[in-house]
Amino acid sequence: MDRDKLTDRMIPEPNKNIRIARECDVVVVGGGPGGIGAAVAAARNGAKTVLIERYGYLGGMGTGGLVTIIPCLSDFNGNMQIAGINQEWIDRLDKREACSYPRQEIWGADDQHLIEYWNDRSFFSVREEKIVYSVIIDAEVSKCLLNDMVNEAKVKTYLHAWGTMPLMEGNKAVGVVFESKSGRQAIMAKIVIDSTGDGDLLPFTPAGFDTDIDPKMRIANLSLCFWIDNVNLQKCEDFRRGNTAAWNQMMEDLTSQGGIAGFFRSNLPNQENVVWFHPRYSCKSQIDLEELTRVEMLGRERMLLTHDYFKKNIPGFESSFIVLSSPQLGTRGARRVHGDYMVTEQDLNNDEPFEDTIAVFPDLDRGKASIKHPLTYIPYRSLLPKGVDNLLVACRAFSSDQTANNFFNLIPHCIAIGEAAGTAAALALDQSVAPRDVDLAGLRARLLAQNVILPGYPRKNRVKNPEAYTYRAPRFGRPPPKAPNASKSE
Ligand SMILES: Cc1cc2nc3c(=O)[nH]c(=O)nc-3n(C[C@H](O)[C@H](O)[C@H](O)COP(=O)(O)OP(=O)(O)OC[C@H]3O[C@@H](n4cnc5c(N)ncnc54)[C@H](O)[C@@H]3O)c2cc1C
Repeated sequence: MDRDKLTDRMIPEPNKNIRIARECDVVVVGGGPGGIGAAVAAARNGAKTVLIERYGYLGGMGTGGLVTIIPCLSDFNGNMQIAGINQEWIDRLDKREACSYPRQEIWGADDQHLIEYWNDRSFFSVREEKIVYSVIIDAEVSKCLLNDMVNEAKVKTYLHAWGTMPLMEGNKAVGVVFESKSGRQAIMAKIVIDSTGDGDLLPFTPAGFDTDIDPKMRIANLSLCFWIDNVNLQKCEDFRRGNTAAWNQMMEDLTSQGGIAGFFRSNLPNQENVVWFHPRYSCKSQIDLEELTRVEMLGRERMLLTHDYFKKNIPGFESSFIVLSSPQLGTRGARRVHGDYMVTEQDLNNDEPFEDTIAVFPDLDRGKASIKHPLTYIPYRSLLPKGVDNLLVACRAFSSDQTANNFFNLIPHCIAIGEAAGTAAALALDQSVAPRDVDLAGLRARLLAQNVILPGYPRKNRVKNPEAYTYRAPRFGRPPPKAPNASKSE
């Protein structure tokens, strides 16, 4: 027998009874952006809610994946488009000085000094030569604040618990099986929400799903992000600016050895000496155990290689060290459910909101052609797996083709999707109807009351702390420019 080959052989799993750990109204599997939105919204709307998360912290990619850029919260004109629970999370971070973003009065500004400054700091804050609202967050503080949010909402949370399959009665989801140090157990629930990011529950339901991704797309890649601390960025930047040709040659050398050339500055208060690397590794599948293991190991090998190179060759990195590699592999795209409606590339170019719009996503700068259509609308139906009852998908596995998913499976977007799913689940239970039959006017009213932004309704000033901390230290010795008509902007 070839020990390196996977076998196709099967054995029946021995039958055994599973202890029912809890019975609840809504069980949410996965505590990432989608799951946080779903669990907090369901519980706040009166549903007895259980949240299951495989790791020891909440936040998914936004904390454990070291993906701490929360982008595209306003459109090119500076109008906020994603608020609700996402903005509440930012407000909480803001109170602790654990995030950084351009102040509200400069959103939409096209002043060249501001553009240059923010491009330098965080290119996600500049789109189509205008300042947009994007936030950099502190991952560690986030983990704590997300705990507060679920606990305050009275969500019963199980960390270190891996959701393995839904319990189905025909086409209807009635609970979830999960594994943990306490063994295999079940949660019985009136409504199940898959927020695993990867759509882990889907293969055990009648729902169809896609896994195809064009290898050239962003979401086709796995990542192992890492942070390097104790970098003298001023020295590094002086060297780069004074030796452009040598710098470019070095980065080429590094890349040819398999290293990672580009990095972001941390941009957070008191993290002036930290830089972030967000590599991309192509893979055959993001839900294949052997591929996940291969890339996890490759990522660490490349991280060491990269740091060794920078330390040896780049001024400013002499005393640097690897302070953190992401506790979880960066997964961008896996299963995408076939929902009652599939959001497609065509919808990205369509100005028409849906009757059941539950979230508005600003354009991501898809090129000049897209400027005519700066907003994309997400219908509630794209969270409902076709042919399955009492199951919602509230994460990047929402019903979308690969192009729509590539643009809109981001963190704030998944929180918004989750918030709508959790709210709809609680409302369905209040109304004693299936999630599919929930009253749309009622859902809209609840979302608006939660500060969610929907098309056709007036928006309030939703940044609660407009005077709160934004980054103050100068970039490489240069002071931040003033906005043309504002005294306090950066
Ligand atoms: C390297 C990289 C860079 C990115 N850059 C950005 C960026 O700059 N800005 C941005 O907004 N987005 C970015 N993204 C995309 C974004 O991070 C994700 O699309 C987003 O986090 C999706 O949220 P989610 O809730 O669907 O899934 P995830 O964030 O993956 O969260 C899923 C959660 O479910 C848990 N889980 C999974 N399976 C199970 C299970 N079976 N049982 C229990 N728990 C489970 C996971 O542990 C995790 O907590 C990036 C992604 C990567 C990988």
